Order: sequence, then structure tokens, then C-alpha cells
Amino acid sequence: AKRKGRNTWQWYRGGGAKSTRDSVLLRNELQKALETNQFTVYYQPLVDAVSGKIRSVEALVRWNHPERGMVSPGDFIPLAESTGQIIPLGQWVLKHACQEIARLNENSERMLPVAVNISSLQFLREDFLANVDKALEESGLPPQFLELEVTESVLLDGAEPVIALMQSLNKRGIHVAIDDFGTGFSSLSYLRDLPTHKVKLDRSFINKTLTDRRTAAIVQGVITMAHHMDMVVVAEGIETVEEQNDLVRRNCDLLQGYRFSKPVPLEVLKALPDRLPVE
Ligand code: C2E
Ligand code: CA
Ligand code: CA
Ligand code: CA
Repeated sequence: AKRKGRNTWQWYRGGGAKSTRDSVLLRNELQKALETNQFTVYYQPLVDAVSGKIRSVEALVRWNHPERGMVSPGDFIPLAESTGQIIPLGQWVLKHACQEIARLNENSERMLPVAVNISSLQFLREDFLANVDKALEESGLPPQFLELEVTESVLLDGAEPVIALMQSLNKRGIHVAIDDFGTGFSSLSYLRDLPTHKVKLDRSFINKTLTDRRTAAIVQGVITMAHHMDMVVVAEGIETVEEQNDLVRRNCDLLQGYRFSKPVPLEVLKALPDRLPVE
């Protein structure tokens, strides 16, 4: 929706606020949203490429806006990053996702790990590790059931602090995945040096694999290379059975996308069958 009013910021899908004035309004609304609990977390399953079994879920924040309804993160995360509000918001998501999944696991046969997206700004803060510990402690979620997803942008200020932090997290049993792999200023040396166990191939690759030979070569190359480094590869944004079959054939480990399930509220997640898609 695009609309304009006296007290409302203009609204463009994917672009966030349009002008400085709009971003001031959006910032104020974000502040209010944080104070009045307007955020919620949806979960999207990652399935085993071969069996279709749900292996884990990714936590994706939603803004349940009183007038605009469910707002996608693409519309507010960039601004929250520019104002610093991503720090309290990110901490809220981390805490909330740990609590919800800890409770889900307590009352269910299947034990699902949860992956939480962490903004580079949040990841590189001095208190990040302490905040992770706090979220785990308060929720009772075992550390092996928490995963963090970061993008290559965490490496902007160099790899060393990132490597050190990932090592500390790994020691606790918390794994870090590289998200949107291939879209940033990827460098193969980063993939070599980062103590990470998982790469997520961005949707922009996945939906071109079937039609573009170069894309297919990159996708196959990343999968083969990652396997030689004992990493797990996730294909994001699988929408069709053709894409699914292609990635299975290429030996991709985990698949995620609308083909299996959209991101859903906890109540819907609870009711999903063990294997997806249901056909
Ligand atoms: P992402 O981490 O790459 O998450 C995957 C996005 O792709 C999600 O969009 C998901 O709904 C969407 N998606 C999944 N499968 C499909 C598919 O088959 N087709 C299509 N077209 N899309 C699919 P969403 O939930 O709108 O999130 C967008 C981005 O916002 C995320 O991209 C992530 O970068 C960011 N984000 C979401 N939640 C958080 C959060 O809690 N903290 C931070 N820092 N960023 C977040
Ligand atoms: Ca992600
Ligand atoms: Ca991603
Ligand atoms: Ca993405």
C-alpha cells in the first residue's frame, strides 16, 4: 500500500520511508511499536532436501501495525538499522524467538533449532555475546538449538573480530550461518577463514539456476566447495517443484521457500506435519 496523510509516513514496498520527514515519522512509530509490543515473530521451516523433514526454522520479524496490518521487515529493518533501533528490536526478536521455540520444544516430540537473523550492527556490538547468553538463560533454550544468521556485511570492518566472536559462539554450541551468500562482496577467503558451518544461497541465485548456465555453475560450485569444507548448504526461496528437484540433484542439503511453507505464526508452525510439502 502507498498512502500519504498528515501524520503518516509514505510507504513503499521494499524501500522504507521516502523522505527525511517520512523517516522521522517512521522512527517515531517504530519507537512506539517497540514500547507497545507491536512486533511478532513468524517462522519458516528449513527442510531436508531428500526426506522433506523439517530440520529447523528461521525466525522472521513482522510488525503488526495497528493501521497497516502485517508489515514486512524489508520495509522497516533498513531504517531501524540507520537509527540504531535495530539494537533493541534485534534483541527483542532474539529473546522472543528463544522463548517461543523453547516452549514449543518442551511440548512436542520434535526438537527444532531456531535461526535468528542478526544485523551486522548488532553482531559487532561489545555486549552481543552477553545478550545471547541472557536470551538463552531466560528462555531455557539449549545453545545447540540456537543458530544465528549473519550476512557478509559483518566483514566490512575486517574479519578478525568476527572470527573471534564466532569462535566464542561455537564454543557455546551456537552455530553461525552465512546468509544471502553470493550477494555481498563475497570473497572466497572469508568462506575459508570464518568458522561457520552453513551457507545460505540467496534466492536471486535459486530462481535463475534453471534458466542461466552461469548461475547454475555458481550454485553447483558453491555447493561442492562448501561440502569439501564440511559445511551445510541451504537453498533459499524454493518456489516450484522444478527448483526443488534441481537443487536436490545438485546435492543441496536443506531447502527453504514457499514451496514448503511461507513464514507462519507459531500456532500454525505447531500444526505443520513433519514432512513438507504435503502432496
Ligand atoms: P532473509 O533473512 O534472507 O529471509 C528470507 C526472506 O525471503 C524472508 O522475507 C522470507 O519470507 C522470504 N522468502 C522465503 N521463501 C521465499 C520464497 O519461496 N519466495 C519468496 N519470494 N520469498 C521467500 P522477509 O520475512 O520479508 O524478510 C526479509 C529480510 O528482512 C530477511 O531476509 C532479513 O534480511 C530481514 N529480517 C527479517 N527478520 C529479521 C530480524 O529479526 N532481524 C534482522 N536483522 N533482519 C531481519
Ligand atoms: Ca536469513
Ligand atoms: Ca537469506
Ligand atoms: Ca535475503
